[in-house]
Amino acid sequence: MTERLHFQALSSDGVTLYDIRAARTAGGVRLSCTCKAGQNGMLCKHRVALAAGDMAKIVEPAAADLDALKALLASSELPQACAILQGLERKLEDMKRGVSSLRKQIAGAMFG
Ligand SMILES: [Zn+2]
Repeated sequence: MTERLHFQALSSDGVTLYDIRAARTAGGVRLSCTCKAGQNGMLCKHRVALAAGDMAKIVEPAAADLDALKALLASSELPQACAILQGLERKLEDMKRGVSSLRKQIAGAMFG
C-alpha cells in the first residue's frame, strides 16, 4: 500500500498555503513540502511541526488523515526528534532576543 497523505500549511505571511505530502517508502517515511526551503532540499519548519504533531499552522486537518499520519510515523523517531528540535529552536529564539535586549541595554549604559 502506497498511501500518500496530503496536508496544507499556512505560511507565516498568513496567506500562502504550502502542500505537505507524507508517504511510506522502502527506507521509512518521506515528507515533502512545497515551501521555498522544502523545494531547496532544506528541512523546513512546516514538516518539522507536522511530524512533531504541532497542528497550529496546518489548515483544517481531517481527523482520518491525522490518524493515518500518526500510524505512518509510529515506527519512526521523527515525532520525538521533531518535538525536541522545535523546543530547542524556541529556546534559541528566546536566547537571541535576550542577547539582543541585553546588548542594547549595555550599549545604552556605556554610551549614555
Ligand atoms: Zn515547508
